[in-house]
Amino acid sequence: MKQFLNFIDGEFVATDKTFANRAPVDNRVLGLVHEAGRAEVDAAVAAARGALKGEWGRMPVAKRVELLYAVADEINRRFDDFLAAEIADTGKPLSLASHIDIPRGAANFKVFADIIKNVPAETFEMATPDGGQALNYAVRTPVGVVGVVCPWNLPLLLMTWKVGPALACGNTVVVKPSEETPATATLLGEVMQKVGMPKGVYNVVHGFGPDSAGAFLTQHPDVDAITFTGETRTGEAIMAAAAKGVRPVSFELGGKNAGIVFADADFDKAVAGITRSAFENCGQVCLGTERVYVQRPIFEKFVQALKAKAEALKIGPSEEPGVGLGPLISAEHRDKVLSYYRKAVEQGATVVTGGGVPKMSGALAEGHWVQPTIWTGLPESAAVIREEIFGPCCHIAPFDTEEEAIALANATDYGLATTVWTQNLGTAHRVARQVEVGICWINSWFLRDLRTAFGGAKASGIGREGGVHSLEFYTELRNVCVKL
Ligand code: NAD
Repeated sequence: MKQFLNFIDGEFVATDKTFANRAPVDNRVLGLVHEAGRAEVDAAVAAARGALKGEWGRMPVAKRVELLYAVADEINRRFDDFLAAEIADTGKPLSLASHIDIPRGAANFKVFADIIKNVPAETFEMATPDGGQALNYAVRTPVGVVGVVCPWNLPLLLMTWKVGPALACGNTVVVKPSEETPATATLLGEVMQKVGMPKGVYNVVHGFGPDSAGAFLTQHPDVDAITFTGETRTGEAIMAAAAKGVRPVSFELGGKNAGIVFADADFDKAVAGITRSAFENCGQVCLGTERVYVQRPIFEKFVQALKAKAEALKIGPSEEPGVGLGPLISAEHRDKVLSYYRKAVEQGATVVTGGGVPKMSGALAEGHWVQPTIWTGLPESAAVIREEIFGPCCHIAPFDTEEEAIALANATDYGLATTVWTQNLGTAHRVARQVEVGICWINSWFLRDLRTAFGGAKASGIGREGGVHSLEFYTELRNVCVKL
């Protein structure tokens, strides 16, 4: 049976406590994950600290950049291994993982290598009281040992989104992948060995959150900074842990994102866009749209068009051609999503389509499938409109005016992303300025230029990563003032 081992100080490390890693498509056991205890987390943090003092800490930026390029190239060389590992762990369609997850996993190393190579430092000359001059210049130094805690929905992509810039800036990392998706983080250990990354730069500890590797890592006094992607509630626990020692956090948290479709939108493009934003990755995308607001003249037509799209989505296993919808990540998550499907009905929703579990045959009957689901008719106070579900579902409500659409979009504790569909330039820009989110897409969704700022407003996060913004978190900026 396959074993998913920890990766500490350049070596794969087994423990005597294991748990099963299961495939979402049929619940089969993919292998055993070796859970890190306090001792392994201590060893990983110590290895990361040691590497900062060794070859890695002294390495010139140009050599670091070369190594990160080699990591990206090796991921691409082993593309099929990464792809197989990711689709086994997540059950997502192969077309999605091969176009987004794995290429972005590699790109995250190249993009941040380029940024660190090219970013200038600021300098200011100043007059001094004695009539002379002084020169100020900034130096970026690594923060130190960075704890990286990751979710399961885009495992390699979201992990490398943090590991790429952290390493580019000269830090070392201890990664805690999600217990649901241990494979690609482990595989990256093999890549690090192959390219000759100094030992201790990249470490992986497996396990759960509370009373396990996640908590041990984030509470560890020798971790200098913590970057986390996951649920807002988990962010609260990690922030409390980080308070001890006043360690900085970067948080990418939950969302309850609105899609706003104006009557003048290119109808077909808007329907296709909302189909993606509501159902891609089986709705398990933090940027996904679970609240859709459609201007009244096209409301009925839009609901019917989205219903047709949802019903046309082929549900099935990753490799099957034409599959658009995989399973949810776990039985536990399916229970959560189905509880919202029930709540919607109890609170008086009209179920436009879906609402249940599709019939799957053979081994697939054991998988964590749900139907793509659309509701209308609920008040804005309903649970499925207020709370993040993280499933393939959305509620559609009509609006009349631009002001009303903005107010509806903003009436949430979250503030991650919005997608706006209109052909009126003025409307687009006005709405973009007023929605309380970190990312606003106009006539598009999930278009990502890695040089741009990424993050959430309100309960959706703290800080921005992406491009030079990542440097704000992964480096300490030191000002050097020289009296001339
Ligand atoms: P989660 O918060 O349950 O788990 C994320 C990670 O935190 C896992 O590795 C888990 O083991 C660990 N963890 C849990 N409790 C912990 C604790 N007390 N201390 C330390 N670590 C702990 O999230 P999830 O279910 O894996 O992911 C889904 C969530 O992630 C959704 O809310 C989604 O919106 C969010 N998300 C946000 C973004 C973004 O960029 N804003 C991207 C992807 C996912």
